[in-house]
Amino acid sequence: MEKKNIDWSNIGFGYVQTDKRYVANYKDGAWDKGALTDDPNIVMNECAGVLQYAQTCFEGLKAYTTEDGHIVTFRPDLNAERLMDSAARLEMPQLPKEQFIDAVDQVVKANAGYVPPYGSGATLYIRPYMFGINPVIGVKPADEYQFRMFCTPVGPYFKGGAKPITIRVSDFDRAAPHGTGHVKAGLNYAMSLHAIVDAHQQGYDENVYLDAATRTKIEETGGANIIFVTKDNKVVTPKSDSILPSITRRSLMYVAEHYLGLEVEQREVYLDEVKDFAECGLCGTAAVISPVGKIVDHGKEICFPSGMEEMGPVTKKLYETLTGIQMGRIEAPEGWIHRIL
Ligand SMILES: *Cc1c(COP(=O)(O)O)cnc(C)c1O
Repeated sequence: MEKKNIDWSNIGFGYVQTDKRYVANYKDGAWDKGALTDDPNIVMNECAGVLQYAQTCFEGLKAYTTEDGHIVTFRPDLNAERLMDSAARLEMPQLPKEQFIDAVDQVVKANAGYVPPYGSGATLYIRPYMFGINPVIGVKPADEYQFRMFCTPVGPYFKGGAKPITIRVSDFDRAAPHGTGHVKAGLNYAMSLHAIVDAHQQGYDENVYLDAATRTKIEETGGANIIFVTKDNKVVTPKSDSILPSITRRSLMYVAEHYLGLEVEQREVYLDEVKDFAECGLCGTAAVISPVGKIVDHGKEICFPSGMEEMGPVTKKLYETLTGIQMGRIEAPEGWIHRIL
């Protein structure tokens, strides 16, 4: 398919309408077979479940061009599984994994002209989501649901290299113990908006949330998991039932252990011990890793030895190895790269 006339290196991270999107409907206890549509708009009843009680969950993944010119996605099976977990927690029907992957294939193929070329730094961001669509006024799960998947080209997350960011310890909580922090629900984001606007007004890039029960342990930021590197090069990530299981973070921990030969640890991480780490990074699909140079805890600055100019050396190796695997420059573990074209 002919590439669209887009200035790939200068697009931002925003919504650009593409040609086709996928829609499947759940009614009378079953999903239909789904299809592509040209229509980017959704018409629903004023009382739709999603509009009243926020019954919605989503995913995020990327398609991109590899070094040898193929269009691929990264571990879409894990996005399919996570969407099933989110749906179950929100009393929504599960979309079968095969249908999810087939939808990814269809959407990417139909919009192949929007997949940025190799080396541009840009990617095609894919947004799958599901919501309750029939009228619901008494509090209960909807009976009918719609699953959609659209895509939009997004620019390189870091224009001109990844500069370390400054994050603050938030006074707001993201997720309660036994709550919904471990699923990708829109509701987790709605309640984080005030905290992020406030953080930006105060000059911080992001909020890092503590565990809501004791407010002593590091959880994650609003949309990214966190990893630390110890002074003796061990890669540590917090363990908690209220953290969203990031596919990027799980992949980075695997890369650290099996590609870089580093020791890895998933355990409770106390705010008190953060000052002893050498490096820190946020991980998620959008940026892979955003290096953190500084965490501010109520005026007290925790500055990582890696500084505010560049990624720490271990973070950088992790970043280069995972992006190398994604882009086809380094051999991937079995099943990680899903080739579409
Ligand atoms: C989506 C998300 C992440 C990142 O997950 P990836 O699968 O790596 O993109 C991290 N934290 C939260 C809260 C998220 O919603």
